[in-house]
Amino acid sequence: MSKKIIAIDMDDTICHLIPKAIHYHNIMYPDLPLTLEQIVSFDLSGIWHPACTDDLFFGRPGLYEELDIFDEYTVEEIRRMTADYDVIIVTAARPSSVAEKWRWLQRHLPFIPFENFFVAKRKYLLGFDLLIDDGPHNILAARDTGKQTILIPRPWNAGIQQDFVLKDSWKGMNELVRSMLG
Ligand SMILES: [Mg+2]
Repeated sequence: MSKKIIAIDMDDTICHLIPKAIHYHNIMYPDLPLTLEQIVSFDLSGIWHPACTDDLFFGRPGLYEELDIFDEYTVEEIRRMTADYDVIIVTAARPSSVAEKWRWLQRHLPFIPFENFFVAKRKYLLGFDLLIDDGPHNILAARDTGKQTILIPRPWNAGIQQDFVLKDSWKGMNELVRSMLG
């Protein structure tokens, strides 16, 4: 029997994108500093500095290579997961950041092979069994297509947290996955 497929998001699921992007935003625009708690949706155009753009905030060269790992348990939990499940990494990367993201994965999770690295915005089109993600649009679409989900609780998904299984640390993630998938 083939292994069940676990799809794992990158940004703000296994690494911290938004805190680092905020850090650089606040260096560029010290007169209008952002905080994580302000990020209550993926549309940041109303809250970042008027001179900021999508490219400046999310497209800073090198940004995706310097992101911190989510927590001290992330690597070991994903490594253990690969023994029992087919673990794929699925990220809605902008084209210019794909190479940076692959290099980050090679450095932090070198046991993830290239064929398990998926760049996809419409993640629901993939045939995974369970999705671990912080993006409300991804989690909602996965549920609507009959998939299991684990939501990483962040300020931008507060509105749907009551409807989903939450996990704010990677500690014990394998046990949770096993309890959901059998
Ligand atoms: Mg994400």
